[in-house]
Amino acid sequence: MSNHLSDRIQNRSTSATLAMAAKARELRNEGKDIIGLSLGEPDFNIPDFIKEAAKKAIDENYSSYTPVDGYPELKKAITLKFKRDNGLDYGPNQIVVSTGAKQSLYNVAMVVLNPGDEVILPAPYWVSYSDIVKLAEGVPVEVPTGIETDFKMTPEQLEAAITPKTRMFWFSSPCNPSGSVYSKAELEGLAEVLKKYPDIYVVSDEIYEHINFTKGGHVSIAGIDGMYDRTVTVNGVSKAFAMTGWRIGYIGAPEWIAKGCNKLQGQVTSGANSIAQRAVITALEAPVSKIQYMIDEFHKRRDLVLELLGEIDGFKLNVPEGAFYVFPDISAFFGKTLKGTTINSAEDFALYLLEHANVATVTGEAFGNPNCIRISYAASEKELREAIARIKAVV
Ligand code: PMP
Ligand code: GLU
Repeated sequence: MSNHLSDRIQNRSTSATLAMAAKARELRNEGKDIIGLSLGEPDFNIPDFIKEAAKKAIDENYSSYTPVDGYPELKKAITLKFKRDNGLDYGPNQIVVSTGAKQSLYNVAMVVLNPGDEVILPAPYWVSYSDIVKLAEGVPVEVPTGIETDFKMTPEQLEAAITPKTRMFWFSSPCNPSGSVYSKAELEGLAEVLKKYPDIYVVSDEIYEHINFTKGGHVSIAGIDGMYDRTVTVNGVSKAFAMTGWRIGYIGAPEWIAKGCNKLQGQVTSGANSIAQRAVITALEAPVSKIQYMIDEFHKRRDLVLELLGEIDGFKLNVPEGAFYVFPDISAFFGKTLKGTTINSAEDFALYLLEHANVATVTGEAFGNPNCIRISYAASEKELREAIARIKAVV
């Protein structure tokens, strides 16, 4: 019996963020007191007004299949949100609602890429980009950026990575895992390069748009001159509304891409969950002021974590301006032996912290940067203080 997995899945990595979270859960079940700072998941409850909308949707019997690309009322709420928050005009035929932004990204890769097409990924990048591109038989082209440039790609780096096979450029701002936020001027710099190559499409992953501590605020690259027709703007409700498990993400895209995603989704999921979609109408119609308390709390925690980690020798930090991660360079520990364990990589270091400090983090290797680890500060102040004290004690 040939019961082996297809090459397609066998050759892919397991999501490192989800794997570390599973490991932390397993150790906790064994009775270990693990503090989980591995998963990018807000620790807040979903705001009550959104829960009420979901309960109402159940009572009103929203239980049938929905249109594949989402309820018209939800697509309308998304078009209004794009206009209100991003100054972008998307019509309903340019919107597709999916089962999380992760599926939105997968859909786009599947409908735009042909085998061998190259996708430029400024590294560090979000953990799943590379494997999603590979699942679509594309070729990820990683372009390393360092802590000195705040982990941001320069126009020169972008241009140097472009080849005749380049089909797409994917990035997130605010960035998971570095927390970096591209300013309008920086995006204009990248757009200047892209304008010379009209066949390159952009995926702008804006799922952290509201968790942004800069004065300039969030800027969508689709709003920059010349970029609208070649940008897919990806967003979702997992982060800003603490709705990770509800699994709703969406895109605003050129119509031909939206059409392709709709066709793909019709064969794969039939559309996103009906009750979650109804609740998200309410979430997106609400003013951002309704979720400001969570954003303010993340900002406070960011400052706390930077202060406490800054006291540990060997942790080199930039100042993340958004999302809820810090991405310290810990390469100063490479070659050192701590409590009998020799640290040769970021993975060794993350495993060392898990074993000796009972703190779960994620190795930077999974995000395309072998010198860093990612620490999520989507945890309570008490947990963060305790976790960092434990880390300090073992290094
Ligand atoms: N993009 C980025 C940058 C993320 O951090 C995440 C993590 N959740 C996603 C996309 C996927 O989000 P969702 O929960 O909507 O699938
Ligand atoms: N995006 C989150 C993270 O980076 C959740 C995990 C995942 O979706 O992979 O931790």
